[in-house]
Amino acid sequence: MDIQNTIQILREELNQHNYNYYVLDEPIISDYEFDLKLKQLQELEDQYPEYYDENSPTQRVGGAITKNFQTVAHQHRMYSLDNSYSKEELMDWEKRIQKVLGDVPLEYTCELKYDGASISITYENGILKRALTRGDGFQGDDVTNNIKTIKSIPLKLKGDFPDKFDVRGEIILPFAGFEKMNQELIEIGETPYSNPRNTASGSLKLQDSAEVAKRPLDCLLYFLVGNNLPFNSQFEGLETARKWGFKAPKEAKLAKSLEQVFEFIDYWDMHRHNLPYETDGVVVKVNSFHYQDELGFTAKSPRWAIAYKFKSEQVSTKLNTISYQVGRTGAITPVANLEPVQLAGTIVKRASLHNADQIEKLDIRIGDTVFVEKGGEIIPKIIAVDLSKRVENSKPIIYITHCPECQSLLVRNEGEANHYCPNFYGCPPQIIGRIQHYISRKAMDIEGLGGETVALLFNNGLVRNYADLYDLTVEQILPLERMAQKSAENLIKGVEDSKNIPFESVLFALGIRFVGETVAKKLAKHYKNIDALSQASLIDLILVEEIGERIAQSVIEFFSNEENKIIIGKLKSYGVQFEIIEKVNPNATNKLAGKIFVVSGVFERFSRDDLKKAIEDNGGKVGSSISAKTHYVVAGDNMGPAKLEKANKLNIPIISEVEFMALLG
Ligand code: AMP
Ligand code: ZN
Repeated sequence: MDIQNTIQILREELNQHNYNYYVLDEPIISDYEFDLKLKQLQELEDQYPEYYDENSPTQRVGGAITKNFQTVAHQHRMYSLDNSYSKEELMDWEKRIQKVLGDVPLEYTCELKYDGASISITYENGILKRALTRGDGFQGDDVTNNIKTIKSIPLKLKGDFPDKFDVRGEIILPFAGFEKMNQELIEIGETPYSNPRNTASGSLKLQDSAEVAKRPLDCLLYFLVGNNLPFNSQFEGLETARKWGFKAPKEAKLAKSLEQVFEFIDYWDMHRHNLPYETDGVVVKVNSFHYQDELGFTAKSPRWAIAYKFKSEQVSTKLNTISYQVGRTGAITPVANLEPVQLAGTIVKRASLHNADQIEKLDIRIGDTVFVEKGGEIIPKIIAVDLSKRVENSKPIIYITHCPECQSLLVRNEGEANHYCPNFYGCPPQIIGRIQHYISRKAMDIEGLGGETVALLFNNGLVRNYADLYDLTVEQILPLERMAQKSAENLIKGVEDSKNIPFESVLFALGIRFVGETVAKKLAKHYKNIDALSQASLIDLILVEEIGERIAQSVIEFFSNEENKIIIGKLKSYGVQFEIIEKVNPNATNKLAGKIFVVSGVFERFSRDDLKKAIEDNGGKVGSSISAKTHYVVAGDNMGPAKLEKANKLNIPIISEVEFMALLG
């Protein structure tokens, strides 16, 4: 089989697996198997660059940078939708339609209204050509590079499609992915994103498509536009789109009457909270294209479609005070203290106000009556002020200038939304927050010590930083509130046990800004110990995989601080792990000493990495390409033909994985 063909088959296979996983949600192979195949394709493409294809599944990881997004005219205008808020309004809408069409039987397609950012994607001959944001409806921004990283969007279509058409859909961020992104931000002490919709639309305008590729975005399709489309109604359109490989949610229903539209609305008003993504209503569309044509458009929206907005769960209540919280990194978050009120089954007393800009934008004042809403997020938000109820002589809020906890002058960095308290070592919530982070499960995992006890220890002057934990004695902590002999002993034991926590977790525990769990792992693996890391230069750090300038800068800053140096010195003296302990491999031998191996293809018993490790553990070396110096080629399935030819030419023995194991005895 020729190489081009192999590449082609692998691409099609991977496209199908992507489709099974991201569109149908029914994977048929494991992630591991998928990664193996993708790696194999990547290797072939590296080896044979002449077969490059910008739509290969290997291109999904992104990498292209867009400095300026180009504005491009839409081939077909992207209209807005008229909104309605009651069934009466929908009945009026139907009457207006019947005025134009006469008293004909009408069918409607009912769809959910997905809350994200709209996108229009052009396909030519089944290939994704270009993706534009909505913009002003006439022209949008070209975000093709970013869109291509979203795996539920097909790069190549299946079946029988027209030469050229546009698909319209909504780019969304499902709740699960959104929470995961926020969890990671919280871990590195950053401010979490405020809602999935803004995060989804912000993602489309990131310059680095590799960043977009990391975000768990999805695309839900709702419309096809073009000439000569092979169907005559919206509902058939959705079904056809599915056949071509698009993700058009199955919740869409064909209603034979307005009555059935109401049933759809009632059902989803109740059940929308069970969906994995955010919805803010239902979109009702006259099903037949023929009728759609007759109805046409107003200046801004189609006459044949209307959005019905769910009543958001909203109440009004009074704003009593605003308090300011100081986080572990010193970030200030203003919090609204409200007159307690019942909302969506819970009592709400507080709402986040995010930052100074948000307060200014809302022009919110003490004593105001405000509207509070519960969206997809857990924390309720204030959406507006009821100006009709504003008390006389109220004054705009003047944002605090000094830290409420330590009275330091706050700083606000260029381009950042939050104010910070710069008193890293003297501001109590920052110190307590850092120690709480240090003991947390993914960090030092100190059992027997909880967040509240940390605050108690600090407030009683027993600890000022996480190194002090190792000096604590049972006698010192026994007098603390709710402390007994047993719990005091457990605490001391937990601290003692943390000396066995591996270096990578220790590095995460130190709470260096922007150094989350994954980054800590990368750094630990690369530098092996804290001394090497603390001496690394900026350039050196940036050269480490996945470390950017922002992280590198923060690492340098951390290690150049005198106080940090002292704390780390103390931790070291207590026996906390500051280097990677290479596991001693009981299977290690010297059997392959002096031998150079080249590994090629896919194996049954080993992953390629395991195989390479086995070679090195037994004293051998792994070469990257075949040369006269190579002693053996270990070949699995699908070994590259070029490698095969070269090995034969140089008379280098080609052995199977079984023969390799025999070498080891
Ligand atoms: P609006 O932004 O309020 O004018 O609402 C129109 C927007 O709703 C469109 O631009 C789409 O991005 C979005 N939308 C979400 N779901 C659908 C759907 N099922 N059909 C049509 N538009 C939808
Ligand atoms: Zn402070």
